[in-house]
Amino acid sequence: MARSSVDGTKLEVRDAPGLRRALLAWYRKHHRKLPWRDSRDAYRIWVSEIMLQQTQVATAVPYYARFLDRFPDVAALARARRGDVLAAWAGLGYYRRARHLHEAAGVVVREHAGSVPSDPRAFAALPGVGRYTLGAVLSMGFGRSLPVLDGNVARVFSRLTAQPVTVKRPADAKRLWDLAERLMPRAAGSSHRARLPGQWNQALMELGAMVCTPRSPRCSACPVRTHCAARARGVQHELPPVPGRRAVERVRRAVACVWDRGRLLVVRREGALLDGLWEPPGVELSRGEDAGTALGARLSELGVRVPLADSGRRERHTITHRLITVEVWQGEAPQPASRSTATRKWVSPQREASLALSALAARLLAGGASAGAASSTDPASPQVRSRVLRKRRGARAEARAPRGTAGISRASRRA
Ligand code: SF4
Repeated sequence: MARSSVDGTKLEVRDAPGLRRALLAWYRKHHRKLPWRDSRDAYRIWVSEIMLQQTQVATAVPYYARFLDRFPDVAALARARRGDVLAAWAGLGYYRRARHLHEAAGVVVREHAGSVPSDPRAFAALPGVGRYTLGAVLSMGFGRSLPVLDGNVARVFSRLTAQPVTVKRPADAKRLWDLAERLMPRAAGSSHRARLPGQWNQALMELGAMVCTPRSPRCSACPVRTHCAARARGVQHELPPVPGRRAVERVRRAVACVWDRGRLLVVRREGALLDGLWEPPGVELSRGEDAGTALGARLSELGVRVPLADSGRRERHTITHRLITVEVWQGEAPQPASRSTATRKWVSPQREASLALSALAARLLAGGASAGAASSTDPASPQVRSRVLRKRRGARAEARAPRGTAGISRASRRA
């Protein structure tokens, strides 16, 4: 990655007041009409901002509507079972976001009488709230003069200042946040001015998403082109510097689809990306490792003894930089299955409809991994089918997530 030419110095833009006027005027006229735009309901803004981290706007819109139908306010979200929240999130990926949002709603109800706190310290103390979320929710919901910095804003700043800075480099991120702070309009008095901080933050992100795009900035249509140092020097296509891509990691995995009288065995996944979701028990395989033996050992840990056979089916999916090939094995329980527990369940078609399944599990159920699978995914059931289609779309969104991002980055809000 190229180093900043003047590390440590302040980033400066040309004529900050004129830049603000031009960008705000453009935003008011040209911004996309999105369901969360122009809302002053801090809860709705919060939900949208969490969804938009690592998710494209077009993907998030239908999820946003369904999520708010189901959990229309903080109290409803706090009351919900975690499994129901994850089920409403299923397909969006990065499930830690949903878990944090759910936990935070509980704190808001217990400690803030059910109202999203407008105090920056109180809001920042909630689970899953980083500096980006703090600035976005409090500026748009309460008119607080708090900045945001995501990938779009960082790119716009790099070009406006003609500096090779990137949010992925901590020293640069500090300078970018400093510029974002200095450019923030101050809210005061009238309701018009109270909306300025939120509009300003959205205007910067909208410019990055719609005009100052990564590969093809539309400089001739840009409302702030006269303030742009990169355009003046003809270097806009070289900025910001592109960090080295994380190498793709190929992963081999095997799952066991074990059936007992039409019910499929699923276990709860743990870890940052699929935390709390359910799918058939599986193992990650090292080079040359025998899948049948490894799966047999995994099932023994769960107290399940079933002869397994390789179905020959292979599923491929991508999560961040990991390209995963899944070998699907199957078996039929010879005796009535052991009981379900908190981390292990036998899922019937009726139960499946209310369980937060991983995208892979939904595909396995949809594709019919065995005779049992066929009976579990009743093709006549529109409920199951539409749910599976939603998960497939979500799985594709998951696969489109930026490479090289192992967790949720505040700087990765998507256009
Ligand atoms: Fe981006 Fe071009 Fe506008 Fe500069 S003039 S901010 S490079 S779109």
